Amino acid sequence: MSYKRKQSFIVRNKGEKDLVLSLLKSEGEDLKRLYEDADKLRQRYMGDEVYIRGIIEFSNICANDCLYCGIRASNHNVKRYTMTPEEIINTAKTIESKHSATTVVLQSGETPSLTDHEIGKLIERIKRETSLAVTLSVGNRSEKIYRFWRDCGMDRYLLRFETSDEKLFKRLHPDCSFGERIDCLYALKEIGVQTGSGFMIGLPSETLETLAENILLCRDLELDMIGIGPFIPHPDTPLGDQKNAYDSNKEMFFKALSVLRIYNPDAHIPATTAFDAVFPENGRAMALKRGANIYMPNYTPLEYRRDYMLYPNKPYVDESTESCVARVISLIESLGRKIGKGPGHSIKGRD
Ligand code: SAH
Repeated sequence: MSYKRKQSFIVRNKGEKDLVLSLLKSEGEDLKRLYEDADKLRQRYMGDEVYIRGIIEFSNICANDCLYCGIRASNHNVKRYTMTPEEIINTAKTIESKHSATTVVLQSGETPSLTDHEIGKLIERIKRETSLAVTLSVGNRSEKIYRFWRDCGMDRYLLRFETSDEKLFKRLHPDCSFGERIDCLYALKEIGVQTGSGFMIGLPSETLETLAENILLCRDLELDMIGIGPFIPHPDTPLGDQKNAYDSNKEMFFKALSVLRIYNPDAHIPATTAFDAVFPENGRAMALKRGANIYMPNYTPLEYRRDYMLYPNKPYVDESTESCVARVISLIESLGRKIGKGPGHSIKGRD
């Protein structure tokens, strides 16, 4: 069934959106309570374990031209790279043995820089040679390819819907429609792959209603994982001279995260890197205190990291993985939390 047909089954009552909007407008004591409630729900459903999912950005080659993204095809200032399967496997082995990660997230631009078959073989090898769970994040593909990767051992897939405003989605994505993106998410769910999605907060011209709809769409999709983060204008993109819609009200980034937790109590929610890009002192730490339960350190080899600039001021581009893991572990412990052991699979559908 296509997204258009499914959409007609989702009956959104107006009061529900008003409630989300009023939570997003919380101030003073109400805001304090919102953050506390989100943290309590996180603890009740997800526990105190913070799972470390190591990201390897294995290629920045992309055929798409998403208007916000620093590695879009039209940005000729990017030095393009693709890691070899051997380099990727070796990095995966290192993060397993030395860096407390129990999942590897393989992310790239949207073109087969490695062929679908090569990616399948890579998944098989990682599953055979390590105990890591494997998450893939390489964009819109056919259900057939998703099935093939699942059969190779892929555990999870990340594909953000970016915005629930279909018109805005169309303007930002010359290469795909909102319906196609949502259909990919349904296909992944139907074939039993743990499915993650999410959105950017504060895209130009979005309204608070858009943000409320984004949060409710995550709930309606019954996602296993939800990643959200502030939109950060990249100078080499068509949105380079735009501002984040909440530029003068950055508290909204955390409010969005807490409301997201309230509407998705049993989803894995990462403290995403973009929070640190906006609040270099403590963005991800605050996110962990306000609803998040996952940390995704960047384990892309240093020689490539500078070339995967989705947005400017991406933090820790020069930090070695050794120092990164020490910093992450001490951060998690300083918050009174524990490092998650085991794969940290979805808890949806469990008692
Ligand atoms: N090609 C893959 C991976 C994209 S990068 C895919 O499309 O799924 C991962 C995420 O980075 C995107 O989904 C988007 O939400 C985020 N991102 C890209 N450009 C950004 C920007 N300028 N500011 C904030 N987040 C951005």
